[in-house]
Amino acid sequence: MNMRDSEIIAGILKDARHKIVDDDKDADVILFNTCSVRQHAEDRVISEMGRFAGRKRKNPDLVLGIVGCMAERHGERLLKKYPYLDIVVGPNNIYDLPELIKKIKSPEKALAVGNVRRPEKKIKNRFRAGKFSALVNIMFGCDNYCSYCIVPYVRGREISRPKKDIIDEIKDLADKGVKEITLLGQNVNSYGKGLTNRITFPGLLEGINDIKGIERIRFMTSHAKDAEKGLFRAMRDLDKVCEHLHLPLQSASDRILDLMNRKYTYDDYLRKIELLREMVPEVGVTTDLVVGFPSEKERDFAATQKAVEEIAYNAAFVFKYSPRPPAVSASLVDDVPEEVKKERHNALLVAQKEISHAKNKALIGTEQEILVEGLSRKSDKNLTGRTRGNTSCVFPGGKKLIGQLVRVRVVGATTFTLRGIAVTKGY
Ligand code: SAH
Ligand code: SF4
Repeated sequence: MNMRDSEIIAGILKDARHKIVDDDKDADVILFNTCSVRQHAEDRVISEMGRFAGRKRKNPDLVLGIVGCMAERHGERLLKKYPYLDIVVGPNNIYDLPELIKKIKSPEKALAVGNVRRPEKKIKNRFRAGKFSALVNIMFGCDNYCSYCIVPYVRGREISRPKKDIIDEIKDLADKGVKEITLLGQNVNSYGKGLTNRITFPGLLEGINDIKGIERIRFMTSHAKDAEKGLFRAMRDLDKVCEHLHLPLQSASDRILDLMNRKYTYDDYLRKIELLREMVPEVGVTTDLVVGFPSEKERDFAATQKAVEEIAYNAAFVFKYSPRPPAVSASLVDDVPEEVKKERHNALLVAQKEISHAKNKALIGTEQEILVEGLSRKSDKNLTGRTRGNTSCVFPGGKKLIGQLVRVRVVGATTFTLRGIAVTKGY
């Protein structure tokens, strides 16, 4: 979602006749689009920004800004604490950026925060970072208030975009050669709530599936309390919807899930995964897990460990709990010591690595469809792309295949990547 916001910001600034430069040494304005979801993300922004403080002393006209969730969370406090900072703009105020940049003259400061999403402005320059894959917002904000999470406070209440706006945007992308789109929302399964035309997320997927030129539809994130059969049916029946579901579990202890305000039990979750795998046998399933939530005991953690083995995800993102005031859980004592968080984090990563490797090895001998994203980082004789299930695959091939869908036979597997050979005729 932040990546898409950065593209929108680049588009707005280009409309206002700014130029995007490759090297920050050539920039007159430097903006950090930030994340607040864990303290670690915020700390990294501050240390990165520190690198520019010296340059600002030499060149007072340089404009330095913090944009996004961290700006919303701290507001004016940032301007007070970091005197070299000029602009602080929350994620729902990014359309103000050109005006703010125009007006600012050091030592003045500009602040634009407030987490109510205003109607989107039409931007002419719909800048996208990639040529063949694009991110598309279908909704903003979040109404779920998971107790650990800062998102509802910094991005505001959940709002769905009208279906027509989404379809028009994707048709335009298809005309420009985009083949794969990823639909973005904090909880895509509640898409349509509050819109005057009754529409559900599977209904939206159906509409997008009919757009000529689009070959693959991905989406994230789903919430386990809302993901259900209608979604799995869409994944099974709509040819362009990829067989990949990212379904954050967070924890498999029902006591912790309740404290997290997730509104499902481990059993509810497991039954959904079983149904999905029955309906879409080749599906790739990935998840997010949090270790060290307040009061997490050894037996709570053991439940999560057992779940990782039982569900056998293709991949999992594991996070150490980080208190995010004013999110509700920040008022609980953060009582799991850092070393224990580290141990649990590591234990899950090690277990998941083995499972991911086994899952990838099981694909050896199968044929997979790969959308070629570019040259492999390690060798310009190899190409890289993803399967429909969202696993990376590297295979020998030339540049002319970039942006194409290629059928590949899997011949090898590591924890994170498949190795393959193209079988599409003519290559
Ligand atoms: N809307 C999505 C993603 C939210 S943030 C969802 O509901 O899944 C992405 C992930 O960051 C979350 O799934 C969670 O695992 C993790 N996360 C969020 N807040 C956190 C916190 N305070 N500490 C540690 N991890 C957190
Ligand atoms: Fe945060 Fe929960 Fe909303 Fe995801 S669903 S953004 S974890 S509050």
